[in-house]
Amino acid sequence: MSTNARQRLGTIVEPAREIDVIHETDVLVVGSGPAGLAAALAAARAGVDVSLVERFGCFGGNITTVGVEGMAWYRHEQTVEADGIGREFETRAHEMGAAVPDSQSDSFELDAEGFKVVADTLVEEADVHPMLHRSFAAPIMDGARVIGIITESKAGREAILANRVIDATGDADIADRAGAATHMTPREHMMAASVIFHLAGVDKRAFVEGIRDDPQTYRDWEGNGAWDIETSGKEDAMFSPFLHKPFAQAVRDGVIPDNLATLAGTWGALHDSGELTYMNVVHLPEVDGTDPDSMTGGEIEGRRQAMHAIDALRAYTPGCSGARLRNFGMTIGIRDTRKIDAVYNMTEHDVREQARFDDTIGIYPEFIDGYGILILPTTGRYFQLPYRNLLPKRIKNLLVAGRSSGGDKVSHAATRNMSCCAVLGQAAGIAAAVSLHANKELDEVDIDKVHLELERQGVRIR
Ligand SMILES: Cc1cc2nc3c(=O)[nH]c(=O)nc-3n(C[C@H](O)[C@H](O)[C@H](O)COP(=O)(O)OP(=O)(O)OC[C@H]3O[C@@H](n4cnc5c(N)ncnc54)[C@H](O)[C@@H]3O)c2cc1C
Repeated sequence: MSTNARQRLGTIVEPAREIDVIHETDVLVVGSGPAGLAAALAAARAGVDVSLVERFGCFGGNITTVGVEGMAWYRHEQTVEADGIGREFETRAHEMGAAVPDSQSDSFELDAEGFKVVADTLVEEADVHPMLHRSFAAPIMDGARVIGIITESKAGREAILANRVIDATGDADIADRAGAATHMTPREHMMAASVIFHLAGVDKRAFVEGIRDDPQTYRDWEGNGAWDIETSGKEDAMFSPFLHKPFAQAVRDGVIPDNLATLAGTWGALHDSGELTYMNVVHLPEVDGTDPDSMTGGEIEGRRQAMHAIDALRAYTPGCSGARLRNFGMTIGIRDTRKIDAVYNMTEHDVREQARFDDTIGIYPEFIDGYGILILPTTGRYFQLPYRNLLPKRIKNLLVAGRSSGGDKVSHAATRNMSCCAVLGQAAGIAAAVSLHANKELDEVDIDKVHLELERQGVRIR
């Protein structure tokens, strides 16, 4: 979907104004996805005062707002990973009745709605100061140092001051507005955006029988134009909860428009209650997650395509004849926007060839998913992530964790995954706390002390 660049009809000067400082904190985390939530919990557990700002009314980022429930669908018997808070999200959700076993892996599929309560509980237990319904609007700078943020909300503009700031917005909003260098994949090559939906009214037994009679594999992802992918070969015959045939048949039979040949993707969790969730089958090219006009078009087109997808499922998928829309994610799902120019930017070679770093802050299995590549970590191979990856060049007192940390395209296909974002976030929170305890700048932090605290918090770093 292509949307024209935003029109400029002139400019105005926004008058300067005095703003109330409403809060001061040691560590301010902005954005509460897998990275930000992990950062806030880790910093608080490392003994500093933490505040967590989020623009929406719940914590969890893409998990809770988009409906991305596949936390670790890559995990198999030999997979080696960092554990830490990312793993805790899964186990805690399962304990709280907000996760079910995943169909394709040795992991739990999160319940997007239930995870809102899991996140609330974790935030409360760690004594993190919660600040929902506030959007970051501008950084407060002292030269090149970020010393706080201005938020926009129903209360107008407010200022929050902080001793250390972590940008976990997923879009590097703070880094970008503070003047750090960022880059984006050109629109025509960006990972597609998705409108995720969840169904009710599925006959579980009939659906499972249908899957058993015609199981799909990762090789079946191939051959659909938009879905041509490179694997390492070992993935090809493995089961995948992939859906393409019902949509292709519906196009052939004229049940849905023939320009919807791109409908294909995976289902997530199948519940006893007849809910089939995390339907990831709508893929919208060229939606720019930093352009509200482009996102507006994507939301509307995505919902339209989802309704056609449901028609096709009803007509051609066993167990789905009585299915109905339960809900859409609260927002369109964006996979690919700004990435910072970090002191160290991850490379394709790093994620494909088991990179090792002296300043490692955690490991991530060799799981690459995106830009036409799917490699699953079934062999125990893994790479390390360096602390320098969180440090934007030139800007002080700021760490950037999660999807927008520094790296090239193929490395993004690995590090964007939620449990990797949690590794980066946990390390950012710990580094911020360690730097405060030692009264050292973030770019001078003692990495041995960071390692000690990471290990104390149960993170595998080597
Ligand atoms: C449709 C889709 C399917 C995916 N499937 C998978 C999958 O199966 N498994 C997997 O591991 N990964 C998957 N991903 C990728 C993964 O969800 C993201 O890369 C990951 O969530 C990024 O984590 P994050 O913490 O960096 O950012 P996010 O999860 O995006 O969280 C960022 C948070 O910051 C908040 N925020 C943003 N801007 C502001 C602001 N200005 N002020 C205040 N708050 C702000 C947002 O509201 C959000 O809560 C998928 C992504 C999409 C879109």
